[in-house]
Amino acid sequence: MKTTRRQFMIMSAAGAATLALNSKVQAQAMVSATDPQAVALGYNPDATKVDKAKFAKYAAPQACGNCALYQGAAGSAAGGCALFAGKQVSSKGWCSAYAKKA
Ligand code: SF4
Repeated sequence: MKTTRRQFMIMSAAGAATLALNSKVQAQAMVSATDPQAVALGYNPDATKVDKAKFAKYAAPQACGNCALYQGAAGSAAGGCALFAGKQVSSKGWCSAYAKKA
């Protein structure tokens, strides 16, 4: 079967759209504060709103972005966490398993 230039362009556009959609879907896989594991760990996507009475361990500037378990790139807005496989946490979030990055 011979592929015409037009067919090639259409297939290329479809491939690019699929890649863009995939990256968008991955970017949307954020941990929800209502996720059962997030609730168990006291995860809050905004560390400044952590209930300090409930989590006395919390102290600014602790946040996912400077946690040893954070897997996102330095300066990223969100990234993976070893405790939430397949999802992303906000770099400004926090949970009770926080461990300062060395
Ligand atoms: S373990 Fe660290 S990176 Fe993961 S949610 Fe808790 S504070 Fe954030």
